[in-house]
Amino acid sequence: MTETNIEGPLYAPRKKIYPQAVHGRFRRIKWTLLAITLSIYYFTPFLRWDRGPGLPDQAVLIDIPARRFYFFFIELWPQEVYYFTGLLIMAALALFLMNALAGRLWCGYLCPQTVWTDLFYAVERFIEGDRRHRILKDQHGFTARRAGELAAKHFIWLMIAWWTGGAWVLYFADAPTLVKELVTFQAPMVAYVWIGILTFTTYTLAGFMREQVCIYMCPWPRIQAALTDEWALNVTYRVDRGEPRMSVKKAELARQHGESAGDCVDCHQCVNVCPTGVDIREGLQLGCVQCGLCIDACTHVMQQVGRPTGLIAYDTDINGQRRLEGKPPVYRPIRARTIMYSAMIVLTGAVMVYALATRGSLDVNVLHERNPLFVALSDGGVRNDYTVRLLNKRPTARAVTISVLGVPGATMQTPGVGHGAGEQIGVEIGQDQSRELRISVQVPADLVPAKSVRITFEVKDPATGETAAATDHFVPPTN
Ligand code: SF4
Ligand code: SF4
Repeated sequence: MTETNIEGPLYAPRKKIYPQAVHGRFRRIKWTLLAITLSIYYFTPFLRWDRGPGLPDQAVLIDIPARRFYFFFIELWPQEVYYFTGLLIMAALALFLMNALAGRLWCGYLCPQTVWTDLFYAVERFIEGDRRHRILKDQHGFTARRAGELAAKHFIWLMIAWWTGGAWVLYFADAPTLVKELVTFQAPMVAYVWIGILTFTTYTLAGFMREQVCIYMCPWPRIQAALTDEWALNVTYRVDRGEPRMSVKKAELARQHGESAGDCVDCHQCVNVCPTGVDIREGLQLGCVQCGLCIDACTHVMQQVGRPTGLIAYDTDINGQRRLEGKPPVYRPIRARTIMYSAMIVLTGAVMVYALATRGSLDVNVLHERNPLFVALSDGGVRNDYTVRLLNKRPTARAVTISVLGVPGATMQTPGVGHGAGEQIGVEIGQDQSRELRISVQVPADLVPAKSVRITFEVKDPATGETAAATDHFVPPTN
């Protein structure tokens, strides 16, 4: 039996990271995406969409009391929640596709944790200065000026976090109305509670936990590490070009003497700008969110020392190997897995679009009464009871007829509802509403089926000819 010696602590305490400001192509892409994604999140609730009288005019609205989800011209009912399943499948496939093309594109540019942390870092840098100033300020203890800076930073962070929580609740009610209610303290308590929860989570995750969320909490880095392949582009330090590292002067001398000298001048700029504190020169790591900022930093350094840019760049594992073997790089963005993911996204999207385009505005659900399953009448006839829900998805009220098919001699009764009784009954349904009916179906003694048979409830709008149907069973007494 072998003895295991554990040396040192099991958990390494966090080393505070002071990312340095950087300029360049990837930083510009990140600022642009930050502005777009945050604008979408904060301002979407204020977009209006005219759906006609009596219906909400908010373009994107999750109306929990009315049990509706509105997204511009699309209105989803609770029965259509499967569309969200389709959306989730497409989102997962899009993540897989991004991963197959260029690694953690989502993590580096679009993930909310990345976007808000980036915003919080920008505030920190604006108030406390760049990396060097922040390190010195942390080392030089507490002064009145430092206290003022910290107070200002945390105040702005809290305002951003509060606005984030506030924007979230606006998706669940008419935004302009809710804003007025919030500022006059007349909004429902649940709105204040959710704003409080999201203010706290945003402030904590983006202000304090930062890269620890990506490294320790999020499952996606582990999943994507298992999904990726050697053809995916990743932020890569080109070892063949960079090593051996040395200063500019030493490298020039070495080259003059015909000795090998790498382009890396060991300036640590790529590490200093990294928001997760990774040294990309040590290879691909779990902590690297692939934000590309080290590319910008190194590009700047290479331009300053007069060496070709691209020492750190998006590249593939295959090319890393090929360069070491002196072979030219090859890129294959179009390969089996990217074709398969794209095809599955297109297919899922097409099925959803078709289902949306062809769905009717009239629907019916039926549920058989289970206790009792049937009622034997004194004249030998049999009665079954059903709960029938009619759905009118049109913005106008409509009158429909209900018929039962499949059980000869069946007649219906709807206690206290509808017009008439018999083989067909008429019912009115309000605009964009559902209506629940209890319908008793009765079969005379001489036509009672010998065994359980399928029964169909057919709903028809005589004005438009649109029909909808739902089936269940008519159950006779058992011997
Ligand atoms: S920024 Fe470039 S040159 Fe500087 S340490 Fe990083 S890889 Fe080397
Ligand atoms: S190593 Fe480079 S790409 Fe990776 S997180 Fe750090 S700065 Fe971004």
